[in-house]
Order: sequence, then C-alpha cells, then structure tokens
Amino acid sequence: MSSKLRILVPVKRVIDFAIKPRINKAQTGVETKGVKFSINPFCDIALEESIRIKEKDPNSVEKIHAVSIGSAKAKDVLRVALAKGADSSTLIDVGDQEVEPLQVAKMLKQVVEKENSNLVILGKQAIDDDSNQTGQMLAGLLNWPQATNASKVVIEGDSVSVTREVDGGADTLKAQLPMIITTDLRLNEPRYASLPNIMKAKKKPLETLKSSDLGVEIESRLETLKVEEPPARSAGIKVETVDQLVEKLKELKAI
Ligand code: AMP
Repeated sequence: MSSKLRILVPVKRVIDFAIKPRINKAQTGVETKGVKFSINPFCDIALEESIRIKEKDPNSVEKIHAVSIGSAKAKDVLRVALAKGADSSTLIDVGDQEVEPLQVAKMLKQVVEKENSNLVILGKQAIDDDSNQTGQMLAGLLNWPQATNASKVVIEGDSVSVTREVDGGADTLKAQLPMIITTDLRLNEPRYASLPNIMKAKKKPLETLKSSDLGVEIESRLETLKVEEPPARSAGIKVETVDQLVEKLKELKAI
C-alpha cells in the first residue's frame, strides 16, 4: 500500500515581486520600511502544487503543512497559505535576524522530522537573496532524492515523476518518496486567497517555535560588505544623419 502524503511547504516572506527595491542608506541591504511584503512567488507555486495534488486525490494527502522562518510578521504569509489550502503551519520566529540557507535547511530538517513529512516542495529560489540553495541542502541533510526546477509533477503511489525544463528540451526524473522538489515558474499559476477563506484560516493551527526549540544555532558565515545600485546610465546623444552616426561611432572607436 502506498503512503499518504504529508507535504511540507516552506514559504518565505519577501518584498513583493512587483516592487522595485531601493538600497538602504547604510548600503547594507534593501530598504524594508514601508514596503509591501508577500509570499515568495516560487513558494506560492510550491503551495499551489501541493493544493492541486490534494484536490486531485484528497484521500492521498494526509496534510499540507506550511512553515516560515522569519520575524513574527511572517505569520501573514502563513495565514495566506492556510487560506489557500494548507491545513496547519509553523512559524520559526528568529526575529529580524538574517538566516542563511544552511541554517534554514537545518531548521526545515527538524520540522520534517517533527511533522513526519514525506514530501517537501520548496521554491527553487527566494527572490530576495536569490540563493537557490535551501532545497538542495535539505535534500543533502536528509539524504533524500531531489528534483529541482520542476515544471510538471506526477504522483503515482510512492513514485514521483518530475519534469524539468532544460536547455533544448525536457528532463523527466523519477524517484520514490520521501523526496524534495523545488518549483520553477511554469509549474502552475497560483490562486488568490479569498477574503472568507482568509477569515476562516484564522481558526487553522499556527504554532510558533524558536530556533533553539529545534536545537539549531543561527550563525552567519557570510558578511555583506556592500550593496550598490547599478551605475546610472549616462544620457544618450541624437544624430541627424547616417554620416553623423558613422562619424560618432568612429569617434567612440566603436567601429
Ligand atoms: P533560497 O535557497 O534562499 O533561494 O530559497 C529557496 C526556497 O527555500 C524558498 O523558495 C523557500 O521555499 C525555502 N526557504 C528559504 N528561506 C526560507 C525561510 N526563511 N522560510 C521559509 N522557507 C524558506
């Protein structure tokens, strides 16, 4: 008999993808004050995929558990995840501390064990740090098979097929549960959370833990030296004729 799915979906709270980030005055990162935050788009796709797996065959899924590591504000993204269809959730409250992918993966490993998860669907990357590391590190720590950048997922019992878009074609991998999947942009189009579902989600479980509850010490191995805006483009010039254009290009030694 095949196992029931206990899906874990890690969702990160990041600056909304539609907002153009500004560098802070200290040039240590991006200005976060007064800025809209949302679920990282790739995590939203991971959540959507879990919900579709459950909708397709409700009996095959025991639960979808969402987890976020961040400040208390990350409760917002967990509530959205619960409103969309996650059954329960955990916030690992690390305050305003930046947490690097290895520490995130170590905490997720503890949550996998606590929730007895047998499938973890993560985003392929968080759009704030663009690390693209957490899923891979978690697979390494758990010693589970992983299929990254999924554009299609098919589950048949304990066997999972994942298609990935690669240069010039598609690559289809098959693995047995338990496994790790990371999502690419074209896997699906996430739904919106309706207001009534957001209200109902307030009754769904949201547990808060500290990293110390999971026995993980948060240490930074990287130091940000400086964050800079790209150089401003200098103004262009207008030419009247092709001859003038050729002359100008010669002057600039472009031809
Ligand atoms: P990254 O390796 O940082 O690019 O993130 C890849 C994926 O790991 C994200 O799409 C999330 O699914 C998960 N992840 C990373 N950081 C966090 C976090 N702080 N809380 C929850 N999930 C996270």
